[in-house]
Amino acid sequence: MDVGPVLNTWRRALTVDFLRYFLTAIPFYCVFWVWRPAWARDRRIQAADPERARIVSEITYSLSTVVIFSAIGTALVYAQGAGLTRIYVSLAERGWAYVWASIVLAIVVHDAYFYWTHRLLHWRPLYRLAHHVHHRSATPTPWAAYAFHPLEALIQAGVYVVIVLAIPMHPLGLMLFLVYMIVRNVVGHLGHEIWPAGFARHPLTRWHLTPTHHDLHHRFGKGNYGLYFSFWDDWIGTTRSDYEAAYDAVTARRCSLGTRALPAARVALCLLALAGASRQARADDDISPAGRWTTIDDHTGEVRSVVRVRVEDGELRGQVEKVLARPGEDADPVCALAG
Ligand SMILES: [Zn+2]
Ligand SMILES: [Zn+2]
Repeated sequence: MDVGPVLNTWRRALTVDFLRYFLTAIPFYCVFWVWRPAWARDRRIQAADPERARIVSEITYSLSTVVIFSAIGTALVYAQGAGLTRIYVSLAERGWAYVWASIVLAIVVHDAYFYWTHRLLHWRPLYRLAHHVHHRSATPTPWAAYAFHPLEALIQAGVYVVIVLAIPMHPLGLMLFLVYMIVRNVVGHLGHEIWPAGFARHPLTRWHLTPTHHDLHHRFGKGNYGLYFSFWDDWIGTTRSDYEAAYDAVTARRCSLGTRALPAARVALCLLALAGASRQARADDDISPAGRWTTIDDHTGEVRSVVRVRVEDGELRGQVEKVLARPGEDADPVCALAG
């Protein structure tokens, strides 16, 4: 048997999968983790920085996933040649409306496939064998999108087989589905929230999952198993109870523009607390204490308050701009603590 044409097909599939991963992960990584504009820093979900070695490991495992995905893709090209798949090549055969409908159907099928295989991967023996590799990224970055043990990569590639065997798909529809898949996957591991405040609670949008949703899964390793939509997590009861509060906390940070004055004595107490917690406080590379400061919860890394500090006539003055209360907490948890 002449393996030349097979290797050529594989090389093409490898190039497409490689580019799909890198061309999506690079811009998101560069904007959110390298350039880090102020609006992106405000939306950081966890305070901890991922280690460099972890990022290298995420990329290495993702490359092995690219190899496995492209091998399955090559097998499917030959299956298509043998008439075993439901891929059709003439757009006129089913029209454009069908192409879009088939993409939506593929996404819904993948959502179900991912939820249930993900639940399976959390079964202790499979977790120990394979899925723990993906969970090494407790603070995920876009590079973690494909960071799977080879066995998990094989399981995840199974959805391609299911889709091309079950759904009549035009190659263009298949390609758009694959683009949607990698973009949602990279955004799910972004480590920053990109959707607006209230998105995770609003009845019209809450079904659409957010980076915070998957970030909580990485951080705690339990609950929030879904990929695109909340349907399965909601139906089975695996949505984490802290999801909406965590989402509110991270999206409230951008709303800290509305200032709020507190009595001077309380501001002084907050400043004392701030000074005490200065090792945890994060300023924008500014040695002077002047500027906007955030206080961070030691245990969870959540931002609890935003305080603006000014130096006037050699004196330190501060104003609490925003206090982020958790559900059931007093309106001013930081000041209450300082008092
Ligand atoms: Zn998991
Ligand atoms: Zn993940």
